[in-house]
Amino acid sequence: MSSDVDLDSEQYEKHREAGEILQTVREEAVDRIEVGASHLELVEHVESRIRELGGKPAFPMNVCIDEEAAHGTPSADDSSTFGEEMINIDIGVHVDGWIADSAVTVDLSGNDELVEASAAALDTAIEMAEPGIDTSVLGDVIGRTIEGYGYNPIVNLTGHGLGHYEQHTSPNIPNKKVPQGVTLEVGDVVAIEPFATDGRGKVTEGNEEEIFALETEGSVRNRQARQALEQITEEFRTLPFATRWLDVPRAEMTLRRLKQRNIVHGYPILKEKRGSLVSQKEHTIIITENGCEVTTR
Ligand code: MN
Ligand code: MN
Repeated sequence: MSSDVDLDSEQYEKHREAGEILQTVREEAVDRIEVGASHLELVEHVESRIRELGGKPAFPMNVCIDEEAAHGTPSADDSSTFGEEMINIDIGVHVDGWIADSAVTVDLSGNDELVEASAAALDTAIEMAEPGIDTSVLGDVIGRTIEGYGYNPIVNLTGHGLGHYEQHTSPNIPNKKVPQGVTLEVGDVVAIEPFATDGRGKVTEGNEEEIFALETEGSVRNRQARQALEQITEEFRTLPFATRWLDVPRAEMTLRRLKQRNIVHGYPILKEKRGSLVSQKEHTIIITENGCEVTTR
């Protein structure tokens, strides 16, 4: 993006509006998390509050427990409640396709230092974010901050740019030093999201899959599949959605059908090794002339 970009334009105003809605619902979510509270009630509260406040969810609210790092969200019949666990919540809001993305850890397990590690890494990266900085430098400082606490950064998860109705665009913001970075410029909108763990520092795919997104437009004969595809293309476009968001009977079977035809793709849950814990913190920033503006804080 060129340096004559207008940071007061409608696009950036909508990024900010999405960020403000996100701050409100994130606070409400944190207040509701306690031992015995329901996962499903939490995400339904947050997602409906986003709509009440004039935004739309940019993706299903993620709820990840202990070794889970990303892409967890309750199914329509989920009955889980919170225990004395490490809980990561990740929320996305968009206003007319302009996105805010933010995550925080609520720790009910008594592991403050691990929570602090990802939070401190994010703070340091935000302080350094300015035009001309290389994303590899940010990754380096994130990784070293987390290691300074005696934990590992998760290196195969990264921050990312946010495009119009696109939740993951270039540039990646790595969580470690990488050989080749990208230079950030005024007007770039990026999410920075350090993950810290007492595990390996690498996530793998689990079996559960509750989040999907449109891959290519295609045609299907099955009535339910056609109906679902209509809802997906009109309502979610290319943004991720949850199985529980589909207004068709037997949504799971319908999604399997669409997946087999490569019309949608899934986001399997991403986990650290069993028995480990993961903390996460994420904010969305806009690169400005003098540094950056955090839209979600
Ligand atoms: Mn996120
Ligand atoms: Mn993100």
